Amino acid sequence: MAEGLTAVTTRWGADRFAGLGLGSGRPLIIAGPCSVESEEQILEAARAVKVAGATALRGGAFKPRTSPRSFQGLGEEGLRLLALAREETGLPVVTEVMDTAQIDLVARYADVLQVGSRNMQNFALLKQVGRAGKPVLLKRGLSATLDEWLAAAEYIMDSGNDQVILCERGIRTFETCTRNTLDLSTAIVARKRSGLPVIIDPSHAAGRRDLIPALSRAALAAGVDGLMIEVHPDPDRALSDAAQQLDPGAFRALMQDLGLLPAAALESLAECRQEIDRLDEQLLALLSRRMEVARRVGRIKAGTGVPVFQEEREHALLDRLVRQAGPALRAEDVRAVWEAILACSRRLQEEL
Ligand code: PEP
Ligand code: MN
Repeated sequence: MAEGLTAVTTRWGADRFAGLGLGSGRPLIIAGPCSVESEEQILEAARAVKVAGATALRGGAFKPRTSPRSFQGLGEEGLRLLALAREETGLPVVTEVMDTAQIDLVARYADVLQVGSRNMQNFALLKQVGRAGKPVLLKRGLSATLDEWLAAAEYIMDSGNDQVILCERGIRTFETCTRNTLDLSTAIVARKRSGLPVIIDPSHAAGRRDLIPALSRAALAAGVDGLMIEVHPDPDRALSDAAQQLDPGAFRALMQDLGLLPAAALESLAECRQEIDRLDEQLLALLSRRMEVARRVGRIKAGTGVPVFQEEREHALLDRLVRQAGPALRAEDVRAVWEAILACSRRLQEEL
């Protein structure tokens, strides 16, 4: 994870994907319903994902449905509702454009234009979608190889728009227990080869909501730049992709599990304490591991005649941590905490 995040912060200037925060070191979390269905539905979804810490809102207005009998989306009305949700929540809007004839219309409402899996090789669309001057989210085709996917990205960039975000959303394989197969390895290679941000869509990859937390954790641990997750106020009644959408409570729990839930989302004292207990457990596990390493250091010092207390080393360590600490931690607090930790290490080493 650390390696991935380091790469994120150094790969793009803060202005390349303006407004999306790519390059900030925090993953891009695009969340929202599969389709925009009504004003009430999209506003409820937008509010829920916003409080839980999402960085952008998704919602399909023009839907690429396999069957012509399935819900096709609200069209321009859906775009208008997405813009309304952006106005209320401040979340940038990501939505799909299926046809060259829709580009101007969709770009009038959306902040990021999505090219869906089924259109990954719609070359007319690829050649023109970049001209709107907005970031383009390019989903990998259902059966596209890495080379085909990256060539599609090149078509977009050839129009002079370098704001392409790649999205792996599962590919067709012989496996039937999931809707598609999440191809995390190719996503990692795509990120290396292209120098572009790569996000993962576990919803369309799995097609079932129970797998979304594990796939999300795996993707972020692998160092990808973000996630796209389908969230619906009442998934079982969704007009599309009902089986794979999370309800707001499940999305919030996932964000908490990923360490991405804003503290402001914790409403009661009990909830805050639960989160503190969870964080303390993580701190305790890290401290135990740190002490094991300190003990090993003690043995090496004893074996080579190096004294336990190394003033320069301790100063350098404290200064580095103070520099790295985020705005929530004051320098004197960082010093106080680590002076206590260092004292424990020294005591342990002296006992050896
Ligand atoms: C979507 O994200 O709304 C969608 C239709 O996904 P995909 O193109 O990956 O099937
Ligand atoms: Mn969907």
